[in-house]
Amino acid sequence: MNNPNLKQQVDSRRTFAIISHPDAGKTTITEQLLLFGGAIRQAGTVKGKKTGNFAKSDWMDIEKQRGISVTSSVMQFDFDDKRVNILDTPGHEDFSEDTYRTLMAVDSAVMVIDSAKGIEAQTKKLFQVVKRRGIPIFTFINKLDRDGREPLELLEELEELLAIESYPMNWPIGMGKGLEGIYDIYNERIEFYRPEQYEGERYIKLTNGEIAGDHPLKEKSIYEDVLGEVELVREAGDQFDLEKISRGDQTPVFFGSALTNFGVETFLESFVDLAPKPHAHKTIDEEAISPYEEEFSGFVFKIQANMNPNHRDRIAFVRVCSGTFERGMDVTLGRTGKKMKLSNVTQFMADARENVEEAVAGDIIGVYDTGNYQIGDTIYEGKLKVAYEELPSFTPELFMKVTAKNVMKQKSFHKGIYQLVQEGAIQLYKTYLTDEYIIGAVGQLQFEVFQYRMLNEYNAEVVMTPMGNKIARWINPEQLDERMSSSRNILAKDRFDQPLFLFENQFAMRWFADKYPEVELKSLM
Ligand code: GDP
Repeated sequence: MNNPNLKQQVDSRRTFAIISHPDAGKTTITEQLLLFGGAIRQAGTVKGKKTGNFAKSDWMDIEKQRGISVTSSVMQFDFDDKRVNILDTPGHEDFSEDTYRTLMAVDSAVMVIDSAKGIEAQTKKLFQVVKRRGIPIFTFINKLDRDGREPLELLEELEELLAIESYPMNWPIGMGKGLEGIYDIYNERIEFYRPEQYEGERYIKLTNGEIAGDHPLKEKSIYEDVLGEVELVREAGDQFDLEKISRGDQTPVFFGSALTNFGVETFLESFVDLAPKPHAHKTIDEEAISPYEEEFSGFVFKIQANMNPNHRDRIAFVRVCSGTFERGMDVTLGRTGKKMKLSNVTQFMADARENVEEAVAGDIIGVYDTGNYQIGDTIYEGKLKVAYEELPSFTPELFMKVTAKNVMKQKSFHKGIYQLVQEGAIQLYKTYLTDEYIIGAVGQLQFEVFQYRMLNEYNAEVVMTPMGNKIARWINPEQLDERMSSSRNILAKDRFDQPLFLFENQFAMRWFADKYPEVELKSLM
């Protein structure tokens, strides 16, 4: 379709995900961002999640209480002259391969860290997925209103645990009860936490890195301390480097307090400025399709099953990569060559706007699906005939043995498993010699969804026996010797019949590596 404003629209897009460990403050900061974007009017409207403690296994209840899970997966709003798309990456019990795949559909990521806790397990896992994509990662160190760790220590932890350079965009002046504000290195100003204590002024400009003239803050010892620290990081730390940021080799670090809405707007302003617009997306032939290409294309990165047992329909989440989506348009599903009409589509506009019927590169559309789409599918308009690169598979960490409860229902059991595996809901393995079914996931929720959907969509009741956490490592089939299997590992094969070991723990894996140094152990992404 001919869209005269395509380039300008694409260039205004900022599509990102927030990654964090549970409780670091992702929901709180998301709400503040939506407030700034005018997408919501009061805090507490994103997800009903604080309304109760969800039982870990009760996936249906989670969905019911949340009610709006599909619409809250993508949040869109305008800020300055940018259109921002935030893709939700659930932590908590909902953590799954979907979470990882969502990171394949963004152009940058924001990592939220609790200033008292530093980098936690989930953050690290998600960081690694983002890092491999080589996209920019912005860091927001949260909860400054509470006593936390020293800023220098937190930056060191970033470099040590995540092996990424950091550049402080601002620097906290005190913390907890003694929080005075932030020394904003990037904008050369100080932003006060309690402006009412400083004659109501929220910012004060800096001259040569200092407040010119008299100022009550200068009488406090914290002022000199911060000047010293800032000087130290300026001299000894890494220089701000946009090149490195765009490759994901340096992360700009912001400090603030999401709960008290301090530092969030400053973060958002710099973020929309520095975060990348949509790039050309790679195809399986290592080519790249320009986001300004006139014909529409996109790929499916997530499929969400409908929770209503009477409907077997689903929503396929499509990241638009080129052209302009228009409701009712005809596209081709590359894998099957089938023509599809995109009429029943959810868009994630926060409020009604005139061009609500359009989406361009960077935007996400939710296509109503009755079973045609798979994860990784490309759709395109006209003769574009593009196939976007495959989405990676992620090394599962949790495993279950699975059997059909009713032996008479083997057929529906197999059909269900194969379809759900195809769709990317779960990974399937078999024990190498005895062909018993093992399913693998990155998050517990995937098992629950699997069990529920097997019953409701395929009428197959499954029995699952937990095997717990395992470390899965693939080996070269030519090096396989069945005697390598021991009590501390399980020899299995994946759905392409490739051999892998499921190790009990790190120790078991190291023991194996020592015993068979010539065997290379490989993980998926
Ligand atoms: P999520 O699990 O990462 O989405 O975290 P939430 O946004 O739900 O926050 C977890 C808890 O930390 C909640 O009780 C929040 O009110 C609290 N919290 C979030 N941001 C801040 C902050 O800046 N300061 C303080 N003191 N608490 C915060």
